Amino acid sequence: MSSQSKQIIVLGAGMVGTSAALALQARDYDVALIDRAAPGSETSYGNAGVIQGEAREPYALPRDIATLWGIAFKQDNAVDWDVRGLLKAAPTLLPYWYNSAPKRHRRISQVYSALVARANADHAALIAASGSEALIRREGYRLIFRDAAAFDKMAGKAESWETIYGINFTIEDGKALAAAEPALRQRLAGAIHWHDAWTCSDPGGLVRAYAALFRKQGGDEIRADILGLESGSGWRVRTSVGTFDAQQVVVALGPWSPQLLEPLGYRVPMIRKRGYHMHFTPGGALPNIPMIDAEVSAVYAPMRAGLRICTGADLSIERGEAMPRQLRRAHAAASELLDLGEPVEASAWRGERPCMPDMLPVVGAAAQHTGLWFDFGHGHQGFTLGPTTGALLAGLVAGDPDPIVSRLALSRSVKDL
Ligand SMILES: Cc1cc2nc3c(=O)[nH]c(=O)nc-3n(C[C@H](O)[C@H](O)[C@H](O)COP(=O)(O)OP(=O)(O)OC[C@H]3O[C@@H](n4cnc5c(N)ncnc54)[C@H](O)[C@@H]3O)c2cc1C
Repeated sequence: MSSQSKQIIVLGAGMVGTSAALALQARDYDVALIDRAAPGSETSYGNAGVIQGEAREPYALPRDIATLWGIAFKQDNAVDWDVRGLLKAAPTLLPYWYNSAPKRHRRISQVYSALVARANADHAALIAASGSEALIRREGYRLIFRDAAAFDKMAGKAESWETIYGINFTIEDGKALAAAEPALRQRLAGAIHWHDAWTCSDPGGLVRAYAALFRKQGGDEIRADILGLESGSGWRVRTSVGTFDAQQVVVALGPWSPQLLEPLGYRVPMIRKRGYHMHFTPGGALPNIPMIDAEVSAVYAPMRAGLRICTGADLSIERGEAMPRQLRRAHAAASELLDLGEPVEASAWRGERPCMPDMLPVVGAAAQHTGLWFDFGHGHQGFTLGPTTGALLAGLVAGDPDPIVSRLALSRSVKDL
């Protein structure tokens, strides 16, 4: 057993918490990982499974009139909303709007890009060590366009990203796209094939494989509902199966992090962007690699469970429909392009992207308490960034910080929370 100061508890076994637990283990910490469910059962299960090495800029709030008009009148499937949901989210949407101004977004993107640039390499080490190669394809994904003007506009943007960030892509016209993806039933305007992304056929399975590696290396995985966190001479985690004590604790509860931290005096301004997915059995051939259908902001990802259709962001109050509006539209659009079979589930999976108003994950030490660490708020790309922020956090805990950590607190310091 290592010394008491090397004991640490990680709360939350999604991609973020599990990766942090592994990174701490790699630095010789004696780690316990607590979750009420099996690792990778929540947001890290339900995502589109893309390790987005190409996503160098975080999602800004749209500020141009045409996009806002489309969202306001519900023509744009990227975002759904209702008045109650918007009012509830307003205190966090306003700073998000402010940070989405082009100049601020450019500064934030410099930091974001530095994180994403190492994401594939950070995953690669864990994929190899956990024996998960069979779940991963290193062939990118396609952003597909029906509309030629939208395609040309995005192609121009891709070229500017190539100059700024050095990302790799191929522009495919309708003919090249049809040849690459024979499953498509319609000739489209074209696609951008992003080469720097990797895709996963079972996102929850990848987290489970990382967690199995953690256990194999001596990590303690505890299945319990976390009820509260108390500080004294160290930290006490109250759970449904008893209390657990350690000198240090990492909060990696994704969308649930703010509610655990509130009693300790931290008001975390998180925007939860709900998303949905449903699987369909293949009626015919599936796409070779995942596609994002630009016009309906939906992902069509071939997975072990079937073709997973994932949606954009829903800011409305949950209505509990079996197949919410964005998913119905995505399904209709997918059915035009692909030979879809039956739905695998009776109702849609729903989960929340834990987004921060400055679009950067919260990684670092809590200001008001010693031995309390944060690793949450990964928004649209937590499946991508979990291993990276885990490594950064472990460096901080061990007193060996990576220089990028200081840049993470760009517009919102961890100290301000
Ligand atoms: C539709 C959709 C598509 C997405 N697509 C992508 C994508 O392609 N690529 C990408 O990089 N990202 C994607 N994301 C975002 C990504 O899924 C998230 O950023 C990421 O999964 C967050 O991981 P996490 O570990 O922070 O949270 P989670 O995976 O939600 O983990 C939090 C854990 O905390 C546990 N927990 C919470 N409260 C308690 C409690 N009281 N007691 C015990 N345990 C508790 C939960 O059980 C859960 O396991 C997508 C998200 C959505 C919704």
